[in-house]
Amino acid sequence: QPLLQVQDLRVDIGGRHVLKSISLDVPAGSLVVLMGANGSGKSTLGLTLAGHPRYQVVGGQARFGGQDLLALNPEERARAGLFVSFQAPPDIPGVKNNLFIRTALNAVREARGEAPLDAFDFLGDARATASRLGLPEAMLSRPVNDGFSGGERKRNELLQLALLKPKLALLDEIDSGMDVDGTRAVVELVQSMRADGTAFVVVSHYLQLIESLQPDAVLRLDQGCIAETGDLALARDISRTGFARAAEPMEA
Ligand code: ADP
Ligand code: MG
Ligand code: MG
Repeated sequence: QPLLQVQDLRVDIGGRHVLKSISLDVPAGSLVVLMGANGSGKSTLGLTLAGHPRYQVVGGQARFGGQDLLALNPEERARAGLFVSFQAPPDIPGVKNNLFIRTALNAVREARGEAPLDAFDFLGDARATASRLGLPEAMLSRPVNDGFSGGERKRNELLQLALLKPKLALLDEIDSGMDVDGTRAVVELVQSMRADGTAFVVVSHYLQLIESLQPDAVLRLDQGCIAETGDLALARDISRTGFARAAEPMEA
């Protein structure tokens, strides 16, 4: 049984059918790339799986690690080992970044039967990981994302990912707005976590990143449905000819 199994998932936002029928399997330790034109539903899928209340599930199922994912609240989903990065990570005024991440981490550790980390042990890990990701140490003691640039917010998502060590991470355009060093940090982190067994769903528009990640599968979303399933050849095809190509009639 795959780690994540989504079957005929249908989601409405404000009464509009945004996801019409999504089925996908993500085996443990695998990497699936999700492509699709703007507005095709990629972020909606991630936020629905994370349990965001705006997204109303009107049909279908999602199972994660043998559990009914849709029956869990967002905190329970995170404790079960699901991590979803935001396309636009929000500010959390008044909450220090290091406390925020340590609280999330200790909730996950408790669920795994591990002892909580105290502030001292946590800071050691967090500093080492921040430095590996090119994130200035001072950002650990600022409020979450307060005054962070777009690229720094994305790196801060990577910091959370690296420390939380989820079973499955869904990264939504994590590379957009990042410089070349940031993109390299994404690839290195994903590769090392994958070697340790973490599975990934990666939303990206950039072929170079997708190729570096060596995906097991590439899916194309179109208007809330999985329109195509393939491998790297599909990603290459899309980046060469664009998303509109499938709508064009074949020439004789
Ligand atoms: P993608 O991430 O593939 O670019 P999204 O999942 O963000 O696409 O959006 C899918 C569709 O749902 C779009 O048509 C978008 O306008 C719509 N949508 C997303 N969020 C909302 C919202 N909060 N209210 C209304 N419509 C939304
Ligand atoms: Mg978009
Ligand atoms: Mg999006």
